Amino acid sequence: MSRSTLSRSSSSNSSSGGNGSGSTTDDVKVDRSGLGTVGYAPVKPQKNAPPAPPPTPLGKELESQIRARGPVSVHEYVKQCLLHPTHGYYARKGAVHNFGTGGDFVTAPELSQLFGELIGVWFVSEWQRLGKPAQIRIVEVGPGRGTLCADILRATATWPPFREALTDVHLVEPSLTLRVEQRRTLNAQPSATSTTKPADPAEVTWVVEGHNGRDARVSWHSSLEDVPTGTPTLFIGQEVLDAFPPYQFVKTDEGWREKLVDLNDDGGFRFVLAPQPTPASRALVVEGTISDEDTVEVAPGALALSRAIAERIAQDRGAALLVDYGFDGISPGDTLRGFRRHKQVHPLEEPGLVDLTVDADFGACATHAAGVEGASVYGSTTQGEWLQRMGIVARLEALLALEDITERQVDQLIGACEQLVDPAQMGARYRVLSVVDGGGEDEGAPAGFAAGDRVAGPPV
Ligand code: SAH
Repeated sequence: MSRSTLSRSSSSNSSSGGNGSGSTTDDVKVDRSGLGTVGYAPVKPQKNAPPAPPPTPLGKELESQIRARGPVSVHEYVKQCLLHPTHGYYARKGAVHNFGTGGDFVTAPELSQLFGELIGVWFVSEWQRLGKPAQIRIVEVGPGRGTLCADILRATATWPPFREALTDVHLVEPSLTLRVEQRRTLNAQPSATSTTKPADPAEVTWVVEGHNGRDARVSWHSSLEDVPTGTPTLFIGQEVLDAFPPYQFVKTDEGWREKLVDLNDDGGFRFVLAPQPTPASRALVVEGTISDEDTVEVAPGALALSRAIAERIAQDRGAALLVDYGFDGISPGDTLRGFRRHKQVHPLEEPGLVDLTVDADFGACATHAAGVEGASVYGSTTQGEWLQRMGIVARLEALLALEDITERQVDQLIGACEQLVDPAQMGARYRVLSVVDGGGEDEGAPAGFAAGDRVAGPPV
């Protein structure tokens, strides 16, 4: 079955190596007149600048920042491109159209309900392993349109005791635009007990329908730190690790140098190397996974999230799944890339209008989480293998056997299942990492993982 939609997992070009539109700028020079800085070397090879871009509102802001203060780190550039409160890719008005066939990329939950249903099954199986606690909490980090969370809630509704125990759902979502969409997708309603009607939606208590009249409260947060602790928790982060901005470092004859974003002659942007070590290169190169290409890419936010989830699980009990495209072992080097309308574009093109993403470093995330006492880490394993172990084929067959299913739905379900599992599509590029409570060797692996998938903590 052929599909016109692509996931964002492909990385055929490196960000410094090309932009798919053949631009080369071997004679690029920097206008330093406004900078007062010297010595920023263009990144080699110098095919690193996109064609002169139409200025975007965020591009103009970045340009004045660079004119005033000099080149910005890749980390700062990506952070602003994704989450600038007005112009960021996820935060801007209309960010909801980023997703799906009409948008820039498609994700597993947007492809098929099968994905969310199996995560729901995993949540119930982990709740059972925990001894069916009377209160359980769900936390999703980076919920996008809210489709995955809605599928999880729908799937778990068939286990009434689980839904009775589900007291609250927390969505960690910095984008205010996407929060509105998530509320709509979940069909969250103001709680019957909110007697007043606050003007600010943030002050409303939102609920989703539960079992036996026990609604589950839904709240939104900008960061995991704001989510309350004290209750066993099931975490899911699907395609969020790749959205944490990376620092990039390149090995030179003088040592590791941080990659920065500078202005180009024509008003666009280009990559340069810092002439001296920076605080980031001093602190972070050891955190990264070195590649054959002498590039180190580190996304501290992804490492911190993995560790924070493990700490919460060790403290409150619970389980987590982190799913994304990425690698476990040797890094492919520079993985920063841009996506627009299902095409890979140069990451410095049209700031704020292009999705920027990196491969998740699962090995580093696993090691960070495994360093937490009282947490056990499994994986990463491939998405294809995990979904098959979770019974995706049986679930597909059950859906195909439904009486009122149309031929079109049959095609869609089979096509999506293939896309999720097939190693040549999303099955091998996407990986799944799990964190569960308990540090014992003999406690058994969580569903979908084998005992041999357990990651040893760092040597003490
Ligand atoms: N999980 C969804 C969406 C993936 S896109 C899906 O698979 O369809 C990435 C999501 O992470 C978006 O909702 C984006 O706004 C959110 N996000 C980006 N940076 C984040 C951060 N630092 N913390 C939490 N969420 C973040």
